[in-house]
Amino acid sequence: MLSVSDAENIIFNLVQPLSTQQDIELVDLLSPGDAPLEPPPWSDSFAALRSADRILASEVTSQLDFPHWDNSAMDGYAVRYEDVHNCSEQKPAVLEIVEEIPAGVQPESTIQSGQAARIFTGAVMPAGADTVVMQERTRREENRVIILTPPKLQEFVRKRGMYYRAGTQLLPAGILLKASEIAVLAAFQCTQLKVFRRPRVAIFSTGDELVTPDRPLQPGQIVDSNRYALATLIRHSGAEPIILGIIKDKPEALKEAIAYAIAHADVVISSGGVSVGDYDYVEQILESLGGKIHVRAIATKPGKPLTVATFENDVRPIVYFGLPGNPVAALVTFWRFVQPAIKKLSGLAQGWEPVYIKALARQELCSGGKRETYVWGQLYVKNGVYEFQPAGGLQNSGNLINLAQTNGLAVLPVGTTLIAVGEQVQVLQVGS
Ligand code: AMP
Ligand code: MG
Repeated sequence: MLSVSDAENIIFNLVQPLSTQQDIELVDLLSPGDAPLEPPPWSDSFAALRSADRILASEVTSQLDFPHWDNSAMDGYAVRYEDVHNCSEQKPAVLEIVEEIPAGVQPESTIQSGQAARIFTGAVMPAGADTVVMQERTRREENRVIILTPPKLQEFVRKRGMYYRAGTQLLPAGILLKASEIAVLAAFQCTQLKVFRRPRVAIFSTGDELVTPDRPLQPGQIVDSNRYALATLIRHSGAEPIILGIIKDKPEALKEAIAYAIAHADVVISSGGVSVGDYDYVEQILESLGGKIHVRAIATKPGKPLTVATFENDVRPIVYFGLPGNPVAALVTFWRFVQPAIKKLSGLAQGWEPVYIKALARQELCSGGKRETYVWGQLYVKNGVYEFQPAGGLQNSGNLINLAQTNGLAVLPVGTTLIAVGEQVQVLQVGS
């Protein structure tokens, strides 16, 4: 049985990210999608933002400087610094206003000595002017502006290219496109984006006792809940689930399913059939199909039986995760080991690793101390501090009911048998 840290090293090193050459798609920032409404005639589009939540596969550069033009950072007056730098209450500078420049307009005049232009935030600086005096430091008398305190040279002028020079790197490869990155891409007119394709993750369940949720239960049967939970988690991890069926505990049926899955997916996940029972065939079939088994069991509770195997492939190995069938154990092992692996595979350069939060235990947390133990429950924030509430009822890996609303797994390392109320505990952030 492997320790958690050994298993984690093995698993995360087995995963090779998608290729920046072969595994890319082009997406259009402007592509309209499934709009909830027919757009009205005055609307330009109902962009579906197909690029959101995708991962950039190559760096982005733009041909635009930013700001695009010298412009004013304030409502005020565009002036020549030399006209105003000596002014004072006793000796104010009095300038003639020759133009008014709102945002979005190209100025017409060139400011001469003794002149100024009324200017607004974001408006283009007129030729001849080099400084903006904010409105609050001026007095207006008809067509003249009176300035009593001298500004600094180039004050409140945003110079063209001061934030970004055309042709340099705007965004690096390997980042997830969230709202702020989408804003940057839009502002820089980067509408064609190279992103990684979504990894394909095949899932199936094994077990003679399993049926779909729409079937009346015969004696001894239970519903296959794992496939639905795993499909949701796979999608939320940024991958595309290939949802295969319920496979009987028959070696031939399992062999056919596994062979099909490894031929069509980047990652394969099965649940059930990886323990030591007489009907647990997964490992022997993986080996018979040429799979190399790297992990058979990990010292965790729940989730001890986790099989990880690879199948060689032209581009990168196909990674197989045989999760335990217990619904709680299946999800815990997915959150702890599989989700980071899928995120790494998907091309994320950073932030694919598990995230832990320090929280205060609201109740006593117990463990046998021999295996790393995960107590599932909920994270709350009170006065800006995280608190962890273990799920009520029995913490048994067959009890999936109290798994609902879990967003954290408190971690009790090997050797820790108790975390008292109010003590700090590391909580693995999980959920979607
Ligand atoms: P196994 O790992 O196949 O020995 O299964 C362990 C336990 O989990 C058994 O009680 C199974 O009935 C249950 N189980 C297995 N697969 C699933 C599934 N897909 N959904 C819900 N429960 C399952
Ligand atoms: Mg089974």
